[in-house]
Amino acid sequence: MSFQNTLAFAQSLDQADPLRSFRDQFHIPQHNGKDTVYLCGNSLGLQPKSARAALEAEMTKWAELGVEGHFTGEDQWFTYHAGLAGPTARVVGAKPEEVVVMNQLTVNLHLMLVSFYQPRDQRYKILTEAGAFPSDQYALESQVRFHGYNPDEAIIEVAPRAGEHTLRTEDILAAIRQNGSEIALVMMGGVNYYTGQVFDMAAITREAHAVGANCGFDLAHAAGNVTLQLHGWNVDFAVWCTYKYMNSGPGGTSGVFVHERHARNPDLPRFAGWWGHDQSVRFQMKKGFIPMPGAEGWQVSNSQILPMAVYKASLELFDQAGMANLRAKSEQLTAYLEFLINGLQQPKEALEVITPTEPSARGCQLSLLVHQNGRQLFETLMANGFTLDWREPNVIRVAPTPLYNTFEDVYRFGQFLTAHFNQ
Ligand SMILES: *Cc1c(COP(=O)(O)O)cnc(C)c1O
Repeated sequence: MSFQNTLAFAQSLDQADPLRSFRDQFHIPQHNGKDTVYLCGNSLGLQPKSARAALEAEMTKWAELGVEGHFTGEDQWFTYHAGLAGPTARVVGAKPEEVVVMNQLTVNLHLMLVSFYQPRDQRYKILTEAGAFPSDQYALESQVRFHGYNPDEAIIEVAPRAGEHTLRTEDILAAIRQNGSEIALVMMGGVNYYTGQVFDMAAITREAHAVGANCGFDLAHAAGNVTLQLHGWNVDFAVWCTYKYMNSGPGGTSGVFVHERHARNPDLPRFAGWWGHDQSVRFQMKKGFIPMPGAEGWQVSNSQILPMAVYKASLELFDQAGMANLRAKSEQLTAYLEFLINGLQQPKEALEVITPTEPSARGCQLSLLVHQNGRQLFETLMANGFTLDWREPNVIRVAPTPLYNTFEDVYRFGQFLTAHFNQ
C-alpha cells in the first residue's frame, strides 16, 4: 500500500479499519482534556473498560460468599485459572492444556529454569541474546550460580555484528551449532525489548533441539503482539507477562507454556506446590506430590483471582478481535509509522530506526535511536500529550498497538517529529 502524510489519509485508514470500534472499549489517558497519543502498550497496556466490572464481580462474590466462592458457580475460584487457558492458548498458538496463568513473569521464568535447565557434565551452558532484559539476565545468572557454575563461563551471549543493532538469525544458529555439545539450554526473548526485533523462534528451536539442548522463550514483548505458534514450533517452554500488550494492569498475572510432550514426564524436576497437585485429590491433603498433567502441574500457589479477573476481561477482547486480524492491522500501523519517519528531512546521524524493516522480523514497536538530545525530545513529546518510553542511553520506543491505536495517532506523532526535525 502507498501511504500519504496527511490527516485525511490517516483518517481514511481509520474509517476502513475493521477493528476501529475496539478503541472505545478502552480508557484513554487524558492530556489537557484530550486523548493522549498513547504509544506505550509495550510497557503498560491500557485499561479495558470491562476490567472494572470483571474485578467487581469477584469482589461481590467474595463479599457475598466468603470462602464458598471457591466452589460456587461457573467461575468458581478453585478452577478459575482453567477458564483462562483457552483464550490464552489462542494468543500464543498452543493447546489449552499447554498453558497456565499464574504468578508473575520472572518468578515463572525461574520455575521453568528449574525444569528445563539441567546442567550436567560437559553440557551446562545457556545460550542467550546479548542485551536481554535485565530481569532475564539476572534470572539466568542466578540459576547458573545456583548450579555451581560461573556465569561468565556458562552463559554464551550472541551479539550483533560490529556496526549492527540487531542479531542475524544465521549468527544465532551458528553459535548454537558451534557450542552444541556444551549447551543445556537456549533461552531468548521472542521480541527483544530494546530493538523490537522478533527472533526466528521456529529456526532457533529446531537448531537447539538438533544439538540436544532445550529451548525456551521470554515472550513479554511478543504475547499479544506477534503471531506465535509455540506448539507447532515445538518450543519446550515459554513465559510472558500480560500487562504489556495484553492489558492486564500493573503487575498483572503471567502466562506459562509447557509443550505437551513434557506434560507427563515424571523425570522433569520441578518446584512443586499444592496447586499443581492432582486436583481430584488435592483436598485430601496427603503426602506425595502427584502433578496435574499439562502446564497446570507447574502451579505452586492458589490462583490470584483479582488480577486474573482483569486479565480475563482483556482476553475476551483478544478473542473478539482475533490475533490474525490484530496482526494484520499492526503491520499496517507500523508500516505507516515507518513511512512517516523515513519522510523526515533529518540525517541518519540525528535519528535512526534500529528495528528491522522486514515485517516478519518486528512486532508493532519501532525503536528510534536519537543521537542528539534524545532525552530532550522524549520529554518534549511527553509534555505535549504523547506517551512513549525512553530506554537508556538514547532510545525512544514507539509502539502503536492495533487494539486501541489509530492511524491518526501515528500521523500526529509523525507531525510532531516533522515539526521538531524540519524546523
Ligand atoms: C517486562 C519484562 C520483564 C518484567 O518482568 P516481571 O517479572 O514481570 O517484573 C521481564 N523480562 C522481559 C523480557 C520483559 O520485557
